[in-house]
Amino acid sequence: MKRVIIVGGGAAGLGAAYTLKKRGVDALLLEAENHVGGRLAADEVDGFLIDTGVDFFCYSYDAVFRICEELGVPLVRSIQKLGWYKDGRWHVTTAAPSIPGMVSNLSAFAHMGLLSWGAMKLIYKVIRQADYLTFASNSRMAEIDGDETFGEYLEKTGASESLRVTLSGFVENGVLDYVALSSQAYIRGYLANTFLRPHKLMQPEKGAGALARALRDACADVTRASTPVREVLVGERGVTGVVIDGETIEADAVICAVPAPVALEIIPGLPQRVRETLSNVTYSSACRLVMGLDRPPLPPGWHGAIYPEDETPLVLDRSINLPGCVPPGKSTLDLIAGRERAKQLLELDDAEVKRELLRDIRRNPPPGSDLPGDDDGLFTRVYRWKIAVCKGPPGMFKAMANSRRELGQEIPNLFLAGDYTRVPLVNGALASGIAAAEEALGLLKVGGQSRTVDSSP
Ligand SMILES: Cc1cc2nc3c(=O)[nH]c(=O)nc-3n(C[C@H](O)[C@H](O)[C@H](O)COP(=O)(O)OP(=O)(O)OC[C@H]3O[C@@H](n4cnc5c(N)ncnc54)[C@H](O)[C@@H]3O)c2cc1C
Repeated sequence: MKRVIIVGGGAAGLGAAYTLKKRGVDALLLEAENHVGGRLAADEVDGFLIDTGVDFFCYSYDAVFRICEELGVPLVRSIQKLGWYKDGRWHVTTAAPSIPGMVSNLSAFAHMGLLSWGAMKLIYKVIRQADYLTFASNSRMAEIDGDETFGEYLEKTGASESLRVTLSGFVENGVLDYVALSSQAYIRGYLANTFLRPHKLMQPEKGAGALARALRDACADVTRASTPVREVLVGERGVTGVVIDGETIEADAVICAVPAPVALEIIPGLPQRVRETLSNVTYSSACRLVMGLDRPPLPPGWHGAIYPEDETPLVLDRSINLPGCVPPGKSTLDLIAGRERAKQLLELDDAEVKRELLRDIRRNPPPGSDLPGDDDGLFTRVYRWKIAVCKGPPGMFKAMANSRRELGQEIPNLFLAGDYTRVPLVNGALASGIAAAEEALGLLKVGGQSRTVDSSP
């Protein structure tokens, strides 16, 4: 039987392994860490289910929703009652698609610059380009991606300073840093899928990590954890296998589902133009502190607090949306730092990260909150992400679509998967793994003829 090796067990690699396994192919997934899931992985501490990376699924996440349904992972709508600290005051927004809901948000919207002419223009263009700005597997984002950064786009549309702070701060606080330099198409897509549709955000009842757990279980018999791949071997006629510590494993096809810098490192035989495209892929960093508490830390009903003007971490109490992730009567405090702050924190030990982040949020605490002290908490965990969210520089989407085609012609049995090869969030990652598996299946069935390459972004 033909063998397909999958390198990396994040959403992309698991999506590929799951697809191949369903089709009865001899698949082997090699994962460097002692657990699979990558940035979708969950942790479990004393009955608390913790998401270490991914939080939300957007309404256009078709691949994610399909796999959740197939694997019996129930989803719930996320309740979004969010405090915004802006201009020295707290403003509260509630995600409600109804007219009364919108009216109750009006004063907050005014402070956030959302009732300006510039904001109306931006919203109008997002609605008009909805087909291009989705995060679905068949998104046409590459078609409107060009040289323009999001910063330049905001400048061109005459967005007010207040609106820029709100929009950039929202995305950056959500762990994507310095969006002024990201592709305008990507960031507008991000806003269209999250900020403008907060009432459509979804989460698995037991946290996003429930999807990783379900995929892990479905692929358990084809997975080898704690097995870092050192090199993907490329010969004259294509990929021949992979090198792991002390062993070479032969393969008829390889799906490389690791972040772009790792792919560059372990596939020295990548064609030069593909290497260039991958070298331009950059990621934000993130540092996440999770504490278990025996009381809600935020004002009643708030699921989060956001500080768009500075580097104060995003504050979440996930137990508001996901009571099934905490033991009865308990809560969590989730602090997520991005931008430069994350890079500083990545260097510190856990106790220092806790002290620093708690000090950050105590500067301007939400009114009526009950934030923990340094020695509080049923437990504390710190998750460090040197590679967090792909920043999507302008032109990346087009270049990636071209590179996938080029790779298909030059090394037909090597497939790149991973968030950076699509719209770089969890749906793109999962969809890229599924598509790579389907392409590999096509290739192996037709006995080595050139493959059909899915050219969606
Ligand atoms: C804090 C945070 C919050 C996020 N929030 C969201 C969100 O709310 N919604 C959303 O859609 N996305 C979110 N994301 C982004 C999302 O997590 C990623 O886009 C997606 O999970 C990436 O999946 P992947 O499979 O491409 O990569 P990864 O998850 O990085 O998987 C790559 C895997 O390869 C393994 N690996 C690396 N090197 C090797 C090697 N040499 N050999 C074998 N294995 C190797 C890694 O250990 C890892 O398991 C968030 C990310 C972070 C960090």
